[in-house]
Amino acid sequence: MIKSYATSGMLNARQAQSLLSKLIYSVEGIADCRLDEDTQDILVDILPGTPEGPIDETVERLIDKERHVRLMGSRMYRQSERIAGQEGRPEEIHKLFAENGSVKRGLAVTLTRQIDDLLIGWAQRHGAELRSYPAMIPVATLQKCRYIPTFPQNIHFVSEFPHRLQELEKVRESEDLNALARLSPYALAPAVCFHCYAELSDSRLHEPLVLTARGTCCRHEAAWRLGNHRLNEFSMREVVLFGDAAFIEDERKRFMEEAWDLFEALGLAGRMETASDPFYFSEESGKGQQQMMGNMKYELIVNAGADAGSFSIASFNDMDTSLCKPFGVLDGGANPMHSGCMAFGIDRWVYALLAYYGTDYGKWPPGVRNTLERSRTFQ
Ligand code: AMP
Ligand code: ZN
Repeated sequence: MIKSYATSGMLNARQAQSLLSKLIYSVEGIADCRLDEDTQDILVDILPGTPEGPIDETVERLIDKERHVRLMGSRMYRQSERIAGQEGRPEEIHKLFAENGSVKRGLAVTLTRQIDDLLIGWAQRHGAELRSYPAMIPVATLQKCRYIPTFPQNIHFVSEFPHRLQELEKVRESEDLNALARLSPYALAPAVCFHCYAELSDSRLHEPLVLTARGTCCRHEAAWRLGNHRLNEFSMREVVLFGDAAFIEDERKRFMEEAWDLFEALGLAGRMETASDPFYFSEESGKGQQQMMGNMKYELIVNAGADAGSFSIASFNDMDTSLCKPFGVLDGGANPMHSGCMAFGIDRWVYALLAYYGTDYGKWPPGVRNTLERSRTFQ
């Protein structure tokens, strides 16, 4: 059943969009929720058996919170002229990008490797050192940077059974796993760069440092939105910069320029613009404003055509000293280092390429294939 909630007169268009981005993570028992661009109504597809009362109440509360928030729009940094390729038929793509994107086959696997190889070679030309980190991250590391209270909607914790004979015997006898499991000291990493801060914590760096790692990242996405470009578990390559403010800004800009060149060389269409992180609580929306105003975050957004839509495939973040401070990453003068990171969602590059050019690699434009097959040097 589709229920519509009016927001016009209470919220402006940006506030309504912001409300939607929070509502997605604020109610369960729905199959969809979206914004009607013409009326500015929020349309919620409520599953049979789900009580409407709590949803009504949630929408009301969110409207009340969002109406007090002032939001800034994005500023464009680059925009392409070309139009999106649309050779990929969804049913063909889903054979290679199966089970909501969690199972990859054939060309999707090859492209994943090619994209990552390109990014590694590129990072190394910028002097990056290679790293590899686990998929799990200590909860204490995420707490150090207040990730959990800031983005609670994203987190997947790891559970375990206590190593006690009596408890393990109960596991054999009972199907109520919730009653027997407990949280472990680990979560599944929502990004790669937190591992770098943990590695460097309480150390002094006397010169700039660039690290790169690819990791499996997990974010708790709403089940009804999973698939195509939105996965619960995805592959992210990050390049993480440590240095002074000027180093971070210069390198970040260079990466942005080169990412745009790569994007164009692959024949992709879209834009690069200022962005903010999805702060869950309206009370923290000021942080998003600061990010926007200070150009702290840029996103590279691919337009993958009518079926696949538009989505961010990379972000370029200036963290100032906000992460080096809590982790005690200091410069020679004992001041917190500045840092930044560039994060590439590899699955999304693969999905976009399949949507543009289809699943028959032999028919892809030679220029795109050459770019993907460019030789690289690794250490
Ligand atoms: P962020 O840290 O939010 O800027 O994300 C960095 C990059 O990770 C994004 O630009 C996407 O390419 C990728 N990403 C984020 N969330 C997802 C997801 N749920 N599924 C696939 N890729 C994602
Ligand atoms: Zn990062």
